Amino acid sequence: MDPQTVFCHNMACPARGQVGKGNIGVHSQKERRYICRVCNTTFSERKGTAFYRLRMGKDLVVLVVTLLAHGCPIQAIVVAFGLDERTVMSWQDRSGRHCEQVHQHVVEQPRDLGQVQGDEIRVKVQGGIVWMAMALQVSTRLWLGGVLSACRDTNLITALMRKVRACALCRPLLFCMDGCQAYIDAIRTVFREPIHTGKVGSPRLRPWDGILMAQVVKQYAGKRVVAIQRRLVQGTMAQVQAVLQRTQGGGTINTAYIERLNATFRACIAALVRRGRALARQESTLRRSMYLVGCVYNFCIYHRSLRVAIPLPGGRRHWVSRTPALAAGITDHCWTVEELLSFRVPLPRWTPPKRRGPRSKATKALVAQWCS
Ligand SMILES: [Zn+2]
Repeated sequence: MDPQTVFCHNMACPARGQVGKGNIGVHSQKERRYICRVCNTTFSERKGTAFYRLRMGKDLVVLVVTLLAHGCPIQAIVVAFGLDERTVMSWQDRSGRHCEQVHQHVVEQPRDLGQVQGDEIRVKVQGGIVWMAMALQVSTRLWLGGVLSACRDTNLITALMRKVRACALCRPLLFCMDGCQAYIDAIRTVFREPIHTGKVGSPRLRPWDGILMAQVVKQYAGKRVVAIQRRLVQGTMAQVQAVLQRTQGGGTINTAYIERLNATFRACIAALVRRGRALARQESTLRRSMYLVGCVYNFCIYHRSLRVAIPLPGGRRHWVSRTPALAAGITDHCWTVEELLSFRVPLPRWTPPKRRGPRSKATKALVAQWCS
């Protein structure tokens, strides 16, 4: 047990969420509990992780979640490990929720995205159809998040673009997508910045500079693609070529990278397998599975095309494998599934409760110690 790596989870504690400040001590080695000396609360070693309040051994949970993240059907796990179906489903649910929080904290940070590709998958669920829209940063293959909706409309695409915006810096940014008009409207709505003038009323919104849009429209005869049309919607060809050169080493406008990612998700979520029998009953189950697979893809699996060669003396080369998160500079190593499930998302800093009148000396001391 290392008190230097954990933080207090008590929302009323001034020291909540702060690591390495010396306020945490070991309460009980036997029961694996820590204590916060500021608020005198004890908490389990597993608090804040996906293993919190689970009675089963950590190793078994990690094994089952790893299988789930690689597309193993729940029924197979039930039979192989002699577990109850509801237990496996609850582990999928809690690991998916945990991964969503990790994704929001770690991936949804502003970065220079370069080129982003977006696409939707049509998913059969029990009693209907759900659309799953996802986006990917091309240069690092980083999965930027996904959204689900019953219809493939502007709301779905706008929600996806809000996810992309949470990950984006205002730099030249190329979007490559299919011929769906909703993308163009959504990008123009979401990528705007208010100009504050100090006047009364809502401020005017100014579009981001450097937003480029391109569409890839495929024409089908039956199930075969017979023609591909590439359209430039916003920006000049020279600007688009510059971004393509920087993010994929040249080439043409395409949606190949997101289509490859869709194939990965189809293979890794049992409910997404075409003509499969393991249909999801609810949209929420699908959402949890999506975040679990997305985070395992981003953090735990080496991506073959992200390898970099380091030249060695004698003309030889040493290949270094990278995960999308490593390529994006989010982490410095490939995570294990256990590491992903054990990641504690920090809590926001404590703020003193609002009271009338001036702050007391005690409150001022707490603010000076914990809020600076
Ligand atoms: Zn505390």
